This record gives sequence, structure tokens and C-alpha cells, in this order.
Amino acid sequence: MAKWVYGFGAGRNDGHAGLRDLLGGKGANLAEMAGIGLPVPPGFTITTEVCTAFYDNGRRYPEELDAQVQAALTGIEQAVGLGFGDAGRPLLVSVRSGARVSMPGMMDTVLNLGLNDETVEGLAQSSGDARFAWDSYRRFIQMYGSVVLGVGHHHFEEIIEDVKNELNTLEDTDLDAEAWRQVVLSYKDLVERETGAAFPQEPKAQLWGAIGAVFGSWMNPRANTYRRLNDIPAAWGTAVNVQAMVFGNMGEDCATGVCFTRDPSTGENAFYGEYLVNAQGEDVVAGIRTPQPMSEARAKPGEVSMEAALPDAYRELLAVRDTLERHYRDMQDIEFTVQQNKLYMLQTRSGKRTAAAALRIAIEMAHEGRISHEEAIGRITPASLDQLLHPTLDPKAERTVISRGLPASPGAAAGAVVFTADEVEQRAARGEAVILVRIETSPEDVHGMHAARGVLTTRGGMTSHAAVVARGMGRVCVAGCGGIRVDYKAQTLTAGSHVIKAGDWITLDGSTGEVFAGRVATIEPTLSGDFATLMGWADSLRRMKVRANAETPDDAETARRFGAEGIGLCRTEHMFFAPERIGIVRQMIMAGSEAARAKALEQLLPFQRDDFAALFRIMAGLPVTIRLLDPPLHEFLPHTDADLLAVAEGLGQSLDALHERRAALSESNPMLGHRGCRLGITFPEIYAMQARAIFEAAILVAAETGSPVVPEVMIPLVGTARELELTRAEVDRVAQEVISKAGVTLDYQVGTMIELPRAALTADQIAQHADFFSFGTNDLTQTTFGLSRDDAGGFLPHYIEKAIWARDPFVTIDREGVGALVELAVTKGRGRKPGLKLGVCGEHGGDPASIAFCEEAGLDYVSCSPFRVPIARLAAAQAAMAAAMARAKAPAA
Ligand code: ADP
Ligand code: MG
Ligand code: MG
Repeated sequence: MAKWVYGFGAGRNDGHAGLRDLLGGKGANLAEMAGIGLPVPPGFTITTEVCTAFYDNGRRYPEELDAQVQAALTGIEQAVGLGFGDAGRPLLVSVRSGARVSMPGMMDTVLNLGLNDETVEGLAQSSGDARFAWDSYRRFIQMYGSVVLGVGHHHFEEIIEDVKNELNTLEDTDLDAEAWRQVVLSYKDLVERETGAAFPQEPKAQLWGAIGAVFGSWMNPRANTYRRLNDIPAAWGTAVNVQAMVFGNMGEDCATGVCFTRDPSTGENAFYGEYLVNAQGEDVVAGIRTPQPMSEARAKPGEVSMEAALPDAYRELLAVRDTLERHYRDMQDIEFTVQQNKLYMLQTRSGKRTAAAALRIAIEMAHEGRISHEEAIGRITPASLDQLLHPTLDPKAERTVISRGLPASPGAAAGAVVFTADEVEQRAARGEAVILVRIETSPEDVHGMHAARGVLTTRGGMTSHAAVVARGMGRVCVAGCGGIRVDYKAQTLTAGSHVIKAGDWITLDGSTGEVFAGRVATIEPTLSGDFATLMGWADSLRRMKVRANAETPDDAETARRFGAEGIGLCRTEHMFFAPERIGIVRQMIMAGSEAARAKALEQLLPFQRDDFAALFRIMAGLPVTIRLLDPPLHEFLPHTDADLLAVAEGLGQSLDALHERRAALSESNPMLGHRGCRLGITFPEIYAMQARAIFEAAILVAAETGSPVVPEVMIPLVGTARELELTRAEVDRVAQEVISKAGVTLDYQVGTMIELPRAALTADQIAQHADFFSFGTNDLTQTTFGLSRDDAGGFLPHYIEKAIWARDPFVTIDREGVGALVELAVTKGRGRKPGLKLGVCGEHGGDPASIAFCEEAGLDYVSCSPFRVPIARLAAAQAAMAAAMARAKAPAA
């Protein structure tokens, strides 16, 4: 016969924590606590399988259920020596829902079930406390009436208010037995009026009513929505727990409370929580009375701690806290009730905590010897580190929110409002804190974004230019703040009634998307202490290296501070936008002749050499991958006539000629146009200049420091082996020239991005000419899906909602499609060249789920933006642990 009901507590304890899927979290942990000897009121759990069977069979229960519930109920009666429905010594129970994971939207708990007009008298007699009995009865009708029968909560509240008015009092505690009896009479009338039937008096009918309501709530709209948003399958079902009542509302030696075994906001190893004397269940969180602190140490003047009020029960609870932590080896969130000085445990579960608390608790529990380093690593969600790596708003600071946009790049920043990138740069150079405010940003704003403390845009989504670039730089960014109007002419931004002028201060919280008027104080992150310890453990457990995408000395320094083991992607084009260079870059592009281009390139060479030398110095011998020029040339073209005129003068050409040239260079689809290695093929002198700058810088820094620099030169957008063969030949030629001229030896590598499907499909041929592959999964995703990242925002939500894509493929790598291409390229590439070095660069390199994929695919390293380096180090460690576990589980071949 199928087992649908599991007992817990007092004698019959069928379950344990391992049966969470079957008993739900609450039920499994009640059995576990009872099993380790903690005082749990006896009860039973109706399994999640009953819920599933109920819905599979047209809302009918399995046949044996009734008998099994009856038997379990008898078990409780015997354990506590009371009878369900017994007029003299009535057993009361609570009915509590509980799925595998805690789930808002499910039915609320019903307490004191089993009371009726008869048993209430019995309870009054047996407890010797009529007030307590009538108070319990009215609570029951109120909970059952609203939760099971659907009578609006406010109706009940109004009745209590009326009675209080009549008696001229404000406090529940002033109501005596007679007053509560009055309330009960009015409640019963109310229920009859609202539902058309008398309040159920038969305890069995009450019980089945409550059980039915729990199972019914599994499919209610609130629960359905929550499940959809949190990827919880409907097939899991909920369990129902029926448990003997204990009473925290029987007098001054009774109490109820909720606590955490450690402080959930700081992680401090201190008992943390709240309790109320003479109260029941939800009173603590309901806010009717002010809950009091647990320990004397935390009690403020006027507060009465549990330690002082109920010293014996408190001591017992401290022992339970210890037992639970020792047993579960994690911080617990617990519920308890004290009935006449006796402690009862009603719930335990692993407690929710802030990122800072999670870190501290994991480290301290490892130091205490409760968990291993691996477990400590496994307990930190990599993405949560974000909260610890950026400045945050001081929680104590006053603030005025003026608008809210998308939380595009985390952290908090305050500064003066500035509307142009150039002005940002000038003011920042003077040491001013500034926020760049734009309707949207473009590549020309990058230098301003870099110099700003934060970026605010009124248009664009999470993958807009502003969002992607700001995240890459670790700049705070609030994007798509539609509630703000920017007027460039008037130099103002308007949010509702707030008009903010250029130069006025605002504060951004890029983690929430909030925009504040004025300057809100911020707190700097600390990278030492627990954080450093955790990172050290992660580093010793991971296999893959972690590099950073960085092009400025600033970024490179941040990357090293965060533990990057090299640069995986240095985008040289960002170096071209600096004001003193863009003019020369434009001359190079617009040059009509090779000679004119050569002249411009010669002027750029020293700039580039300095750029690379600075990076090599900072990275001190760590590998640096430099990508040669990649973007479509149009990104550098002069837009205004003034700009064009400047270029014309520099080149000694007519404005007309340049207009023509600009028209000739314009493309209808630049991202698929004349870019990447196609530039290197048609203008070999551009790549030659860049290669020369790289090699000369490497020789220079090696001579300075006495230790070798091994540059890695990367060719972008290769789709055909011959493209790499030709561009590589040019790079090799320059290398030989530079090396022989300097009379030194220099090791270097030349490799390619794999960012076109054709490159992945022909990776074996391409590998012949490559020392390494770096998967450019941003472009590979664009080209595999035939989808532009900048335009995906418009329909992405519909695709997610309709389950066409599980996730934004630009955030987490699409394993089935893009991932398959990566795996193919790995196999083909290493098949041709066993030692081929493989890495990934781009946004995916900092995404934990994508990092897990990289580990499985056998890549050597991931490269991500500097601020995500710690996240990647932790995620790589977790991925290595998971891979080791999978290998251990796999049957020996
Ligand atoms: P939730 O999941 O919303 O916390 P619970 O089922 O845990 O709901 O219960 C709500 C409140 O009722 C909690 O404070 C809990 O401790 C209390 N409670 C539940 N069952 C009993 C019981 N048998 N005796 C006394 N209090 C109970
Ligand atoms: Mg609870
Ligand atoms: Mg690319």
C-alpha cells in the first residue's frame, strides 16, 4: 500500500531532512529536528505525492489517504493524551503548507484547528484560563474564515475594532474572556452572512477543509506566477503538515519567536531574532505589538530581552541553536514557542542572508571546522560578490529618489551632472566627481564614460551601449531611465517636479536603478579579510585561469587588484578615441593614398607603443592578448563639418574630396561589413603598425624590467584559414624586422578570435596558423543567431516569456547552438594542434553559468571585465568542483 502520510515527533518519526522532495522543506526538517531529539510537537506530513495525485485524478484524493490520516491523528492523540473533538480535553492542531522550496503565494497557516462551541469550553476548563480559550477560538475562526472560506480579513478586523471602541480600549491585551466570547459570536455571524453556511463545527470537517485549501492553493494564480518566475515545476506539489498545537498565548510564562542562529545581515556569530511574550504564531511578524530582542546584549533601554524574561527557556534555546548549527552545518532560521516555560521547536531552515553575511558565515564555519573549504566555496553565489565589490550607498544616509531606471551596472556613485563626454573628461581631469547624463551613448562617449563616476541614460536596455560599456569598465550605470527628460540645450534634466541643472549633484545606485537628488554618502568595498581568504581557497580549487578584458592602465590595475592572471582581450580601437588621437586616426582612414596613410600611421605608432608598454609594465610578465583593429571604420569617421574640415586640413585635401571619401566608406550593414581582419587584409599597413608597436613595447619593457614579455597578437573576425595565414605572415614579418633590428630574442604568439560560425566549422584549418583561439562569444552569438545585440532588447522579453529562449543568450551562453560550435572548434582545433591554447573573452567570460560551460568544454582560461574577475575566480572553482564530482560519479570507462 502506498504511504501517503509520514509521522514526526513523539515516538513515530518516519521522515528526515533527506526526504525534502517528498515531505516539503518544513515537514522534512520537523522530522529531522525530532530525530535529533529536539522538542517538536508531534504531527504528520501528507506528502507532495498526494498533491500530484490529487491534480492528476480530477481533484480526488488517493483512496487510502483518509485511513492513513486517521491513523496518524490517533498517533498524535496518544502522544499528547488529548482527543481531537474531545469536549473535555480537546486536541488542537495547526495545518501548515510546505513545498520543497519556500513559496510565497501558498496558503497561510491555520492555527488552533479543532475548536468549536463545545471544545472551547473544554479548553477553558482544562487550561483554567477562559480568556486564553476564547482568544484561541476567535483566532481560529479568523484564520480559517479568511484562509479557507475566503472571508475578507478586514471584516474580522472591523469587528475587533468595534468591540474595542465599545470597551474604550486600544490593546488586544485589555480584552477579557467575555469580550473575546462576544467577538466569537460576531465572527460566526459574519461567516454565515458571507458564505451562506454556518462556521463548521465538526473538527474532522475543519481538518479536511484546511487540507483541501492547502492543495487548492498550489494552483492559485499567485502561486502559479511565483513558480513561473522562479522556474519551479508545478509537478513538485506541496505537502501539508498537521501538528499538535503548543500555546505561546497562555500567559506571561509563554512566548513565541523567530530567530537566526547568526546575524543574517553581517554574518556575526551572534544569536539574532525577536520574540513576544504571551503571543501566538504570526504575532511577531504581524506588527500588532513590538517584538523584543533575544539577548540582553542587544536590548536597548525599555526593551525586555527573552534572556531576562524567560531565562530557562532562553538557555534551552541557546543549546538548541548550537545543536542545530552543529547538525545542519549552516546558519538556521528558526521558529519556536514557549508554553509555560517549556520550549518547543516549530521550524528550521537554512537562513537567507546578505552577500556579506554569506561570506563571513562560510569562512567562519570553515575556521570552526564545521565545513570544508570546498563547502565554503560552494555556499557563495558568485554573482552575489558584485554587492561586495562596488561602493554601496551608506544605509544610514538620507536620500530622495527622483526616478528609477534599469540597474545596468552595479555600485553607487555621486557627482555633478554633465551632459557631454568632453566636458566630463575636462572636469574629471581637474579631479571633480562627475556623472555623465545622456539620452543614450555611442562609441564617441567612451572616453567620457571612462572619466565619469557614473553614467545615466534615459533610453536603452540592459544590453544598450551604455550598459555594456559601463559594466565592462566597472562604471556605475543606470540605463533607460524613462522617467527623466534630458534637455541638452537648456542643460537640465527633469524628473517629475525635480529640475536638475548641469553642475548640480545627483547620486546613482546602479544595483537598484535608483537616481537620487544631491549627494548620498557611499561606503567603499573591502577586498581584504574574509574576501581575500575565500578567493585564496577558490584559486587553489580551480583549473581554468582567469584573465581580464582591459585596455587602459586603470582597468589593468583594477584587474590585477582583483586577481586577474593576465589580459585576455585588449581592444586597441578604444585607444583610438582619445581626443589627441582621433584626429590622426581620421586622417589615416580618410587618406586617399598609401603615402598619406603611412604618414598618419607613423604618428599613431608612438601612442600605441606607449599604450602597450604601460599594459606590459602593469601586467609584469603575465600574458597580454592584444586584438588588432576590429570595428568598422565608420565608427571613427568625422560626423560634423568642423571635424571633417580638421581632417581635410591635416591631409591637405579638399572638403569635397573628403565628403566623397566618407560616402564611399559608409556601409549599409557595418557590423557585417569592412571590419576585423578584412581591414588587415585591405590595409596591411594598419596591422603592421600595430604589430610594430606591440613588439617594440615588449622589447622595451623586457629591457626595463629584465624579465621577458610574451605578447599574444590576436586577429579578429577570421572566417577563412587564408585570412589568418595572410595577416599572420604580415605580423611575423614585422616581428622579425623589429627583433633583428633590436638584436634581442622575443617570444610571441599569434592567434585568432573564433567569432564566426565558419571559423568554428573550419577550426582545424585555422588552427594550422594559430597559436591560440579566443572565443569571441558576443559576436559568435550574434552571428549564430543572426541577431544584433543592440537590437535584441525589443523582443527579448517576449522570447523569454514564450520560452523560446530560457535566458538572454548574450548573458548566458546558449549551450545547444553557440556552445556546440565552441565544442566543435575545440575538438577540431586541438585535433590539429594538441597544445592549442583556448580561452573565451566577452561578457560570457564573467557569467557563472557560462563559466561552467567553459570548464566542461576544456578551455584554458576565461577573460572578463575587471570587476567580474573575482566572480569568475569563484565560479571557475565551483565549476571545477562540479566537474570533479561528475567525473567521480561517471561509471569507469
Ligand atoms: P510560515 O511558513 O508562513 O512561516 P508556518 O506554518 O511556519 O507558516 O506557521 C505560521 C506561524 O504559526 C509560525 O509562527 C509558527 O511557528 C506558528 N505555528 C505553526 N504551527 C504551530 C503549532 N503547532 N503550535 C504553535 N504555533 C504554531
Ligand atoms: Mg514558518
Ligand atoms: Mg568581435
